[in-house]
Amino acid sequence: MKHEFDWLIHYIANGVICEECGEMEEGFLPYACNAHTHGMGKYGHPDFQVVLRYPLEKVGYILNTLGKRVRGGERFHKGEYVAGIFEDCPVRLDEFEESGRKVLRVVIPDKKGSFPESKECDPRYRVQLLKTEELNKRRE
Ligand SMILES: [Zn+2]
Repeated sequence: MKHEFDWLIHYIANGVICEECGEMEEGFLPYACNAHTHGMGKYGHPDFQVVLRYPLEKVGYILNTLGKRVRGGERFHKGEYVAGIFEDCPVRLDEFEESGRKVLRVVIPDKKGSFPESKECDPRYRVQLLKTEELNKRRE
């Protein structure tokens, strides 16, 4: 993905050709993907991850907005709720592993504002509670 930022976004999802192996990805659970940044380390900050399968434009908006805020001097921590990504609700940053490193996963609440550990939460959003390797059946 080309942009003016000095970080990269990897978007690994069903139907997307993997940049590394050249094969079509198809092992993800429904509603899951593995999108993440590389390059936040130059700001002394963990990278970010989104695992809810939104379109690339929306995932890019979320990850780049956070990246720009880090570049602007903000620092985020696990467990923190972050306003300003979506107009109507905050997101939460949880720590997960991705490719052997710790990342801050952007956990997105459902349309009613319920987070995935809540009983009321839309079940599709629950994939966000899974470890990165559990999101993709082929990689288990
Ligand atoms: Zn990557």
